[in-house]
Amino acid sequence: MAKLSMSKHALTTAEQLAREELIAMVPYQSARRLFSNADAQEDKVWLNANEAPGKGQYQLSAININRYPDFQPDCLISAYSEYSGLAKDKILATRGADEGIELIIRSFCKAYQDTILICPPTYGMYAISAKNHGAAVIKVALNSADLTLDLDGLQQQVGKVKVVFLCSPGNPTGNLLPKAQILAAIELFKGSAMVVIDEAYIEFSPEYSCTKLLHDFDNVIVLRTLSKAFALAGLRCGFTLANNDVITLLSKIIAPYPIAAPVAEIASQVLTNDLAIMQTRVKQTKVLREQLSNWLTEQNWCCHVFTSDANFVLFRCTSAEDKARVFNLLLENNILIRDQSKQQQLENCLRISIGSEDELAQLKQLLTAL
Ligand SMILES: *Cc1c(COP(=O)(O)O)cnc(C)c1O
Repeated sequence: MAKLSMSKHALTTAEQLAREELIAMVPYQSARRLFSNADAQEDKVWLNANEAPGKGQYQLSAININRYPDFQPDCLISAYSEYSGLAKDKILATRGADEGIELIIRSFCKAYQDTILICPPTYGMYAISAKNHGAAVIKVALNSADLTLDLDGLQQQVGKVKVVFLCSPGNPTGNLLPKAQILAAIELFKGSAMVVIDEAYIEFSPEYSCTKLLHDFDNVIVLRTLSKAFALAGLRCGFTLANNDVITLLSKIIAPYPIAAPVAEIASQVLTNDLAIMQTRVKQTKVLREQLSNWLTEQNWCCHVFTSDANFVLFRCTSAEDKARVFNLLLENNILIRDQSKQQQLENCLRISIGSEDELAQLKQLLTAL
């Protein structure tokens, strides 16, 4: 029975019945929870969730929505197979890459027994999903000098973990991990742990994708999403790429109809017809990212701008006071960016998503007055 020493009120039935660790667990503070769409009385500039700017543009045809969708709609899997160059049996479509993370942990970690490994500063959902499931989390921090993998640190955990999460390009850091390091990590954990490479931002440097490693190793999983470069965060569509034995396992625990019919329709349209639009968006984003990075470098409240291979820029402010001034001035003017200063190694750091040219101009104009 759950003991809740900190609570003053009598336990509700749900509190008594719930898994003990869920009671105190803080849910993932997604950008949309911190500031919800419904909160926005006036138009806000949304630069806090690494989404693409602009307005959506996809129309639905009449779908037979009285029918269940296929478990893995073939139009969608075929389109992603074409896009990724992988066979259809190596692809599982999920409700965002976030669901892929959860499925991997639930598939490989026995609750209250097994452990995942993460390399902070990194994406928050790996640890949240692990804790949710009752899996432990071991942290091997990235090397602080250049945010690369600490391979010696990883080696010490071989045999102690079931799943290793690597993020490349990293969120919130922004940099790609060196391919040789990813390869070394996969070799290290061969036979003892699955190595997941989260490629949520890989469209910004597609030549660094690790999908080819699936042919040579049986412990590799790659995560992808349509939420970032494809500008479809609201659609909730991601892909887990792995050899078929892994896909078969994950298929056992995923919900029976994970991909809603309208989602499959829009996603396959985009993947089939609009790759050039995505690539143009990526090019524009990179131009704006370099402009913003250069501009930040010149500001006296900014002491470091991290290299980014993604659609956001992480930077460090000269002090906690400066960080608060920057964040609050933007907030007061309805521009939302993300505070990353609570992450290991990221004291006084803020992250700005690359919005539209106009949005970033507004941001610069406000901060120039600081
Ligand atoms: C945004 C993001 C995800 C989640 O993507 P969804 O497909 O929207 O669930 C996963 N990993 C990283 C590193 C991300 O930044």
